[in-house]
Amino acid sequence: MSQLAEHVKCLIIGSGPAGYTAAIYAARADMHPILYTGIVPGGQLTQTTEVDNFPGYPEGITGPVMMQDLQKQAEKFGTEVRFGYVTSVDFSGPVHEVTIDETTVIKADTVIIATGATAKWLGLESEQKYNGFGVSACAVCDGFFYRGEDVAIVGAGDTAAEEATYLAKLCRKVHMLVRRDEFRASKAMVHRVLNTPNIEIHYNTEAKEVLGDGQVVNALRVLNNVTGEESDIPVMGFFVAIGHKPNTELFTDWLDMDINGYLVTKPGSTQTNREGIFAAGDVQDHIFRQAITAAGSGCMAALEAERYLAAKEHMVLN
Ligand SMILES: Cc1cc2nc3c(=O)[nH]c(=O)nc-3n(C[C@H](O)[C@H](O)[C@H](O)COP(=O)(O)OP(=O)(O)OC[C@H]3O[C@@H](n4cnc5c(N)ncnc54)[C@H](O)[C@@H]3O)c2cc1C
Repeated sequence: MSQLAEHVKCLIIGSGPAGYTAAIYAARADMHPILYTGIVPGGQLTQTTEVDNFPGYPEGITGPVMMQDLQKQAEKFGTEVRFGYVTSVDFSGPVHEVTIDETTVIKADTVIIATGATAKWLGLESEQKYNGFGVSACAVCDGFFYRGEDVAIVGAGDTAAEEATYLAKLCRKVHMLVRRDEFRASKAMVHRVLNTPNIEIHYNTEAKEVLGDGQVVNALRVLNNVTGEESDIPVMGFFVAIGHKPNTELFTDWLDMDINGYLVTKPGSTQTNREGIFAAGDVQDHIFRQAITAAGSGCMAALEAERYLAAKEHMVLN
C-alpha cells in the first residue's frame, strides 16, 4: 500500500448521532478525528421531521436541524468532516487501512464504526409516499404522535410484538397484520400481544396499499391471502416492523457479527474482536435503536479509543 497514505489517530465512519458524538469526544481529547459521512450525511434522523425525545430540546427539533447542530459541535472542537463512502477495509495489521470511494487510502490507529442500520420496508410505492406523514418504521420514535388514534402495524417477530404492545398503551386500537397464520415471535411476546385487549390481530393478512388524502394517511388497504378478499382499515398511522439491516457488509471478513449481521462488541464496551476497532450506535445495537443510545455508545467508543491509544503509547515509552 502507498507510503504516502494519510495516517490518522482516529477515523470515524458514519455521520449519525453515534459518529458525531464520538467525534465530539475524540476531538476534545486531541485525537484530531477525521469523520467520513457516507451517502446519508446526518444519518437516519435526516429522514424524519420532529424529534421529541432527545434530551435538551424541550420544544422538540427536526431531525435535519439536530444533525446539523451535532456536526457543528463536532467541527467546533476540530473534527474534520469529509463527504465520502468507505468502500473497503483491511484490518489485518496493527495500523488499520480504510479505503474511501475506492481511491483514497487512510491509515488509522483507531477506527470507530458508526455506519448504522437501515429499516426494511415492504416496497410499496404508497409506503414511501407517506413515509414521515403517517408511515413509520419506529414505534418508540413516532407512536406518541398517534395518541388516542387507530393505527396498524405489520410484522410477526419479537420487534413487531414489542412495538405493537408499546403502541397499544398510546393508541385507541392497534391492528396487527401477520402474513402467515402464526407469529415468528417468542412465546412470551406472543402471549403479551394476545393479552392486550386493544390489539386486533389479522392473520394471513398483507398490506396492499397505504391510503391517504395526499398529505397524511387515513387508511390501509389489506389483502387476506387465504380468501383473496381486500378491505380497508381506517388508521392514522402505519408502522412497518419487519426488521432492520445493519450496514456491515464491509466488515464481513474482519469482524465478529451476530446471526443478523450486527457487529458484536464486548459486553459493556464498544470494543470489537479486533484491537483498536470500536463500534457504536445502531450498527451494534438491535435492541434500543434510538438517537440517544447511539450517541451514548459513540461517547463510549471515543473514550475507549483514547484509552487504547494512551495504553499503546505508554507501552512504547516503557
Ligand atoms: C424515520 C425515522 C425516525 C426516527 N425518529 C427517531 C426519534 O424521534 N428519536 C430517536 O431517538 N430515534 C429516532 N430514530 C432512530 C435513530 O434515527 C437511530 O437510532 C439513530 O440515527 C442511529 O444512529 P447511528 O449514528 O447509529 O446511525 P445512523 O443514523 O443510521 O447513521 C449511519 C451513518 O453511517 C453512514 N454510513 C453507512 N455506511 C457507510 C460507509 N460505508 N461509509 C461511510 N459512511 C457510511 C451513513 O451515511 C450515515 O451517516 C428514527 C429513525 C428513523 C428511520
